[in-house]
Amino acid sequence: LGPTVTVGEILAEIVATTRGDGFRAAQPLVGPYPSGAPAIFIAQCGRIGGAAAMVGAVGDDDFGRLNLDRLAADGVDVSAVAIDPEHPTGSAFVRYRADGGRDFVYNIARSAAARLSWTGAVAALMSGAGHLHVMGSALSMPSAAAVIARAAEAVRARGGTLSVDPNIRKELRLDAETEARFAALVDRCDLLLPSGDELERAAGVDGEAEAIARLFARGVAEIALKRGADGASVFLPDGTRHDAPAFVVDEIDPTGAGDCFGGAYVACRRLGMDPDRALTYAAAAGARNVTVRGPMEGAGSRAELDTFIAGTPRR
Ligand code: ADP
Repeated sequence: LGPTVTVGEILAEIVATTRGDGFRAAQPLVGPYPSGAPAIFIAQCGRIGGAAAMVGAVGDDDFGRLNLDRLAADGVDVSAVAIDPEHPTGSAFVRYRADGGRDFVYNIARSAAARLSWTGAVAALMSGAGHLHVMGSALSMPSAAAVIARAAEAVRARGGTLSVDPNIRKELRLDAETEARFAALVDRCDLLLPSGDELERAAGVDGEAEAIARLFARGVAEIALKRGADGASVFLPDGTRHDAPAFVVDEIDPTGAGDCFGGAYVACRRLGMDPDRALTYAAAAGARNVTVRGPMEGAGSRAELDTFIAGTPRR
């Protein structure tokens, strides 16, 4: 039916190599790495195979070119990524705290990513798109939220499918209008990919079983629940549940695990794999990605994931 498309932020990410609190003192940093939750998602999708495309914007600068080069190398169609000569590519700094938490500094609000618009290239891409994946993080930018709403209409009008990863960081607050947009997308999605308490938040009720039942009642057709180092599960409306293997890995950099999980799951499902098989690839993609520093540096091709699955112990 056409490519898997996502819309949203493309960033350059700089990562602290020491653990500690915040960015108020000098510290060793590495990067820039290509990043942005939707960009990580679609890069992993492209690596698995099947058509993938991104709607976004970068500045006319090295951070933008870094991202465009990587996405293209991963097989992602970037014809609908605008190059904005007036605004820089967004950036993010991340540092891991000793307690395992993360501090982020985002420079997105004044970046090209926060000025998406519905261009002729976006219209052309969406007129042939088969699936739209929506990241909650992208909804925090009003311009992206508007493009996403229109893209969702376009893909639905063609009989395409929709997936939603709530992915809303505490640093990225949603106003009431965006919350409403988010709820509308959840109501209309075929596949929801929440992690942790996002399941209950999306459903608006407490308890895993209650939340899942509520979402199925609202029309969601498939739920892939991410549980970090504990693995993941897929729930289907007929009551079936599949559990992913919890791969045992050395976690170097957890950023991007959920996005790689989602990219692999959506790509595998769209290639026709059943939920159980797609879930194994998705869990492998998430686990493999945390073993490498940089948000999308550990994204794997299907062959790389096969090697990972064959060679990695499970809990
Ligand atoms: P998010 O980044 O959205 O919070 P998770 O951290 O739950 O997502 O990661 C997504 C998936 O990647 C998990 O459900 C799991 O399958 C895999 N994963 C993530 N971290 C690890 C880890 N430390 N060990 C093994 N698998 C992991």
